[in-house]
Amino acid sequence: MSNYMLSNVVLVILVAGFGYPVNADVRVVDRPSTEAKNDFYIGNRPPLLPSPLIKLPIGAIEPQGWVRRQLELQADGFHGHLTEISRFLIKEGNAWLNPDGEGLHGWEEPVYWLKGFSNCGYILRNERMISESKIWIEAALRSPKADGWFGPDKGRKGAATRLQGREDLWPNMIMLFCLQNYYEFTNDERVIKLMTNYMKYLTTVSEERFLVGYWPRMRGGDLLYSVYWLYNRTGDSFLLDLAKKVHRRTAEWEKDVINWHNVNMSQGFGQPATFYMQSKDPNHLRAAERNWRKIRNMYGQVPGGMFGGDENCRPGFTGPRQAVETCGMVEMMLSHEILLTITGDAKWADRCEDVAFNSLPAAFTPDLKALHYLTSPNMILCDRHNKSPGLQNSGPMLLFDPHRHRCCQHNTGHGWPYYAEHLWMATPGNGLAAVLYAPSQVTAKVGDGTEVTITEETRYPFGENIQLTITTAKPVRFPLYLRVPAWCENPKLTINGKKTAVKARPGAYILIDRKWADGDTVDLNMTMKITLTKWTKNKDSVSVNRGPLTYSLKIGEKYVRAGGTEKWPAWEIHPTTPWNYGLMLNDKDLSSSFRIVRKAWPDDNQPFEANAAPIELRTKAKKIPAWQKDRLGLVGKLQPSPAKSDEPTETVALVPMGCARLRISAFPTIGTGPDAHEWEQPPKSLPATASHCWDGDTVAALSDKLPVSSSSDNRIPRFTWWGHKGTTEWVQYDFEQPKKVSGAAIYWFDDTGRGGCRIPKSWRLLYRDAGQWRQVSNAGGYVLEKDKFNNVKFDPVQTSSLRLEVQLQPNFSAGILEWRIDTNER
Ligand SMILES: [Zn+2]
Repeated sequence: MSNYMLSNVVLVILVAGFGYPVNADVRVVDRPSTEAKNDFYIGNRPPLLPSPLIKLPIGAIEPQGWVRRQLELQADGFHGHLTEISRFLIKEGNAWLNPDGEGLHGWEEPVYWLKGFSNCGYILRNERMISESKIWIEAALRSPKADGWFGPDKGRKGAATRLQGREDLWPNMIMLFCLQNYYEFTNDERVIKLMTNYMKYLTTVSEERFLVGYWPRMRGGDLLYSVYWLYNRTGDSFLLDLAKKVHRRTAEWEKDVINWHNVNMSQGFGQPATFYMQSKDPNHLRAAERNWRKIRNMYGQVPGGMFGGDENCRPGFTGPRQAVETCGMVEMMLSHEILLTITGDAKWADRCEDVAFNSLPAAFTPDLKALHYLTSPNMILCDRHNKSPGLQNSGPMLLFDPHRHRCCQHNTGHGWPYYAEHLWMATPGNGLAAVLYAPSQVTAKVGDGTEVTITEETRYPFGENIQLTITTAKPVRFPLYLRVPAWCENPKLTINGKKTAVKARPGAYILIDRKWADGDTVDLNMTMKITLTKWTKNKDSVSVNRGPLTYSLKIGEKYVRAGGTEKWPAWEIHPTTPWNYGLMLNDKDLSSSFRIVRKAWPDDNQPFEANAAPIELRTKAKKIPAWQKDRLGLVGKLQPSPAKSDEPTETVALVPMGCARLRISAFPTIGTGPDAHEWEQPPKSLPATASHCWDGDTVAALSDKLPVSSSSDNRIPRFTWWGHKGTTEWVQYDFEQPKKVSGAAIYWFDDTGRGGCRIPKSWRLLYRDAGQWRQVSNAGGYVLEKDKFNNVKFDPVQTSSLRLEVQLQPNFSAGILEWRIDTNER
């Protein structure tokens, strides 16, 4: 006991001796307490649960440094000029601009675009963008009908979608967000009037017609958010009943992840937590976390904060080469920002930063003049060619093209603006919280109502120091909260040059509650350690993190022009350096495996470019020669780590994965022990030719040895004669050496219900004999059955070519998933 006391005394003396005064004004809390309220900013109105964090109105936060640069590039890029590019934004005849709501493009695209475009304009106070936005906002404000409906009337009648005769509430949900942003910027009371009348109208829509249709039902959480936004401003109690109806009619995200479309998931998973503000049922809050974890556990065992949903998540497609839609990223960020506000839980800030820093930048070219649809952690070629079925979506989804990718092209402009609007938040007790760290300035009323400005100088997430400077006309007491990221074990706090002892745990907030004077400074140092994440469900691959950034192999990127216009070109990006490396890591002393190389901050303030990255890591690696791209140009699937390699040891550079358009971010490791795995060559396809093969399909599918589940299996590569119907066609194997062949087995492709391929009318096998095609003899019947291999045996032939000839059914084509042959070899 006495020893214990003695050591305590010594500790106090030591702490004091090192100049770390224990500051009574500094505490560590899980989240801002909601016991007090905020007198200046609109939070939740009772009976809604008070929120620990309150969004500041647009204009309160001025992003600076690299964040401002993203917004400026967006303003100058394809999104800020989308009216010149997108046919959906042609004003003439546009239903969103027509007072009767008649015309074209009355669905999601114009409002998707306006959401990010107007917000970006407001934040930058860009007059061109503000006045362009005003045209669309004014049209919406003029559009309400006597019953309260607003916007394109065709949506209500069902003409814009397949909702025959029923209200399509989805596009209006997006416009409600645009109107809220406009209101925050202008305080134009017409917004409150329009929204109130519209919400009253929604109360008259019968239950069975309410939130019907796929998108409205999945995304009802967006409408719920707007109902509460309005309630907090007007206190109209009918809105609380409407909110219950919206929740009742929204897909039941509180039960489970009930849909696997990547954007619906990103938008919908947190919906129960929004309703929790009213229900106060902790199960609703827990459901958001449970959904998030389920998504990440099943499809997100990869770096970058997202998951593999290259349209939808698909069982079996869970590796780091699976991609996610750019819409999915920005919706995930916004969901995290909303959940951060509702809960005050710092983990949502960590998760938001993960997506913002590691995934989102790579979805655009560094000048933000082009985007692509799909981005994955491991992506080694972004060309125009089809990657389906490796990625679910067919078409040029990886091409950086400002003219394509319809939804993402319009919608993704809200990613950076909403991020910038959530860097700082107001707190109960008239305080402020720095929740997402980035260079910025916030001006807000605090304490007794004094307006203060806090300037945040930092190169975070590339730098470890945050410096805050307070500007105030008079001293004012208010609580200042600083988020401690989950990766930050030992933050160091300095107030006005004095080091201050603080035992802050990761995921908490440092609360400094004191009287602040003009010129006061706070320095927060968050040492970034290098850590590894091991993805046991993805072949024990690893990713390398330092602070909030994950690092990927630096691959030479060659931009190849691929269409577009002179002003708005489209680009393929090809690798110019090898990418098939495994890392050689010292697990016992990780820091010895990496050297940090700091580089000059880029002159143009855009660090999200492989050659501009202000920080690189160097580490040892070996090539794995058998790890190659597949026939689609996708990176070969991972195999178990550690992997064997006899290649020489090389030093490779890693850059933050958000800076890399081509990237390997989930790495195999190299091992030498008995557990090291020999990387297997992918099975070699037999050389084959055909009378015709559809562009998106391949003769290589015939012998790729992939398991087939049914004739309608559209998840594996296939061969089809698609395009040709009713004709006689052939496909043949050409052997390098003559083979003795005595049988074959064909698995026909048949997409009845989806497409135009059917089992053919008939087929037969021919072999080449002295330059002549001859039919094989004694073939015991050419079977024509779905969902199984159709086997045939015949008298053995010695031949260099075997041909399968089909007669297609009239008006139909045909295809083959797998064609095996029996030879005398293995
Ligand atoms: Zn999209």
